[in-house]
Amino acid sequence: MAGEFEEIQKRRTFAIISHPDAGKTTLTEKLLLYGGAINLAGSVKGRKTGKHAVSDWMDIEKERGISVTSSVLQFNYEGFCINILDTPGHEDFSEDTYRTLMAADSAVMVIDASKGVEAQTRKLFKVCTLRHIPIFTFINKMDREARDPFALTDEIEELLGIRTCPVNWPIGSGKNFKGVFDRNTKKITTFQAAHAGMQEIATKEIDFSDPALGSVIGEDYLAQLTEETELLDGASDELDMARVSRGDLTPVFFGSALTNFGVETFLEHFLKMTTPPLPRKTKSGEVNPMKDPFFSAFVFKIQANMNKAHRDRIAFMRICSGEYQAGMEVTHVQGKRKIRLNQSTQMMADERKIVETAYAGDIIGVFDPGIFAIGDTLENAREPIAFEGIPTFAPEHFARVRQIDTMKRKQFTKGIEQIAQEGAIQIFQERNTGMEEIIVGAVGVLQFEVLTYRLKAEYNVEVRLDTLPYEYIRWIDEPETVDVDKIQGTSDMKLIQNLKGEPLLLFAHPWSVRMVEERNPGLKLLEFGKS
Ligand code: GDP
Repeated sequence: MAGEFEEIQKRRTFAIISHPDAGKTTLTEKLLLYGGAINLAGSVKGRKTGKHAVSDWMDIEKERGISVTSSVLQFNYEGFCINILDTPGHEDFSEDTYRTLMAADSAVMVIDASKGVEAQTRKLFKVCTLRHIPIFTFINKMDREARDPFALTDEIEELLGIRTCPVNWPIGSGKNFKGVFDRNTKKITTFQAAHAGMQEIATKEIDFSDPALGSVIGEDYLAQLTEETELLDGASDELDMARVSRGDLTPVFFGSALTNFGVETFLEHFLKMTTPPLPRKTKSGEVNPMKDPFFSAFVFKIQANMNKAHRDRIAFMRICSGEYQAGMEVTHVQGKRKIRLNQSTQMMADERKIVETAYAGDIIGVFDPGIFAIGDTLENAREPIAFEGIPTFAPEHFARVRQIDTMKRKQFTKGIEQIAQEGAIQIFQERNTGMEEIIVGAVGVLQFEVLTYRLKAEYNVEVRLDTLPYEYIRWIDEPETVDVDKIQGTSDMKLIQNLKGEPLLLFAHPWSVRMVEERNPGLKLLEFGKS
């Protein structure tokens, strides 16, 4: 038993978020290098090496250069066992990001130093704050011409509403990038421009008080650094870990992932500042991985057809307490039965491996014969427990889906239902018509593209999607007390139902929601479903 808690103590599980191109993949690759997990940087994404990559499994991702799915990578470093959860960079997949964050204990936000906070950083950050987890900021690409570091931290504070605390501070940028100053150790790590293609550059450490510093980084830069650090010490927030853990304050690091500058320091500080797996709320209390010996986990992601040859469906779960052993029997709470967990896979750097043992903090992918749903609990506690579910986002885009070849009805229905179970889209029907006319709702429009693509690639069904003008969906409070077909609507309102038969209203304009409530006394419209 003791050994199990020791293992859990070593775990650090975090997600990386960024606007596309800020350098998330590059940073991940470099982090993996420290774990000795891969020898060749560049194998996380196949883009540059041509090697098939784990985080790229769909052609659409490669075509568009975006990462649609999240994968998990594990590596060991200095006695820690680190799980990195990759998240899609595009805001249209922010719901997927949200679910992934549910499985993480902290998040790393990568920002491009020449661009600052970008549109998708904002969206994804908002998703992060819903989770109240510690957020660490890595300001990347300092080897390129960067914006003023004060302007960058100010922008993070203003646009994202989180206070910043720089752990290190850059000296110059681009051609004149001299290195970073560690505010804690008062040491400067110097940066020397690398030759093209060099993975790691030679660095040197020099004390701030060393009289030789001026000649190393240049007198002007030394004067600037002296002035800036004084300003920082006076004006920036103290590194208060309680505030960090609440998500009120983000420690900020400057570096350059591509040249591997500042990555290891970042990793070391990060590991010191983060905690082992945190307790998780259940409907009846809390599960504490450092105290509770039983196995418990929840499903945060379901993905079908990851491997075309096997047509399998994998349910990814985060272990919240205890130890997983291949073949163990657990209770699937929502399915109300015992099941055997076989064939669990885990991503180890660039390959999928079958795992025999895993611990709280780890993510395992279990073969899913179609029984799991997102948010489900698996456990073998003495008293049954269930983790709080994962809320679904209200779709903001709607489209009518039609089959082009109506002979393939079965595949069509199966495909669309399976994809909906993964949580990428939500399916609705016209009221009183059945599955003939399907309306799909999604959080982002790219999801429609993914749907069309996947129906073709995985189910061999071609569909036509006609986008609908609605943007707001509302649930009806206590629908059994309302005669929904008699609702006095507006011209931009549409009555639909979900697969459970619950009535829902779609609106093109937000003001119509209130108008309909006014026209129908007693009718209450809700932004979220109660189920
Ligand atoms: P992602 O979309 O966030 O995963 O970004 P990538 O890691 O794929 O990086 C996008 C581009 O920026 C690639 O061409 C990288 O080589 C480049 N890049 C990443 N980090 C750095 C860096 O520190 N410095 C420079 N100059 N380029 C970088």
